[in-house]
Amino acid sequence: MSAPEHRSDLNARIDARRWADRGSILKTSVHFDRMQRLATVVDASSQPCQVEIQFSLDPHQQIRARLHVQGILRLSCQRCLELMDWAVDETIDFRVMQDEAQVRDDEDYLLMDEEGCLMLADVVEDELLLSVPMIPRHEHCTLAGLVAKPDDPGQFRDHASERVRPFAGLGALLSENLSEKKDT
Ligand SMILES: [Zn+2]
Repeated sequence: MSAPEHRSDLNARIDARRWADRGSILKTSVHFDRMQRLATVVDASSQPCQVEIQFSLDPHQQIRARLHVQGILRLSCQRCLELMDWAVDETIDFRVMQDEAQVRDDEDYLLMDEEGCLMLADVVEDELLLSVPMIPRHEHCTLAGLVAKPDDPGQFRDHASERVRPFAGLGALLSENLSEKKDT
């Protein structure tokens, strides 16, 4: 028998114990304009991400939640300022608990409220924010050749001085003056 799947809003309160008892899977898609923190990083033209959260009980009757987020985020390349696609495909296993005191250092966890419910919108937004690079850049940015490498500043200066030729227009200026004198 396959696990029951449900389409649900991430802003709904999820009764974790009930979902885990049934081995239910929550499937939804996330629109970035509804996630305030993410909307400042991700371009509005991005397609929604697919989110799947599978609830289960482990052999110790502890609630587990496996989150899978998948999608393409559109970010601004910080070098050329054009848009770039950033693929996200993350799976995170959470232990779901009611008491923070039981948390071990080495595990991701979700805390239920007093009624045993979870709010998942912030959790998904956190994971998406973590998957975005601090400084998004095209892997092979077309502007890369124009930027001086910090480890090679001399080369950049040489190219710059080649381009600046302060006397380049002097010859033309002189001949103009000469022809004016001839006319008078
Ligand atoms: Zn770029």
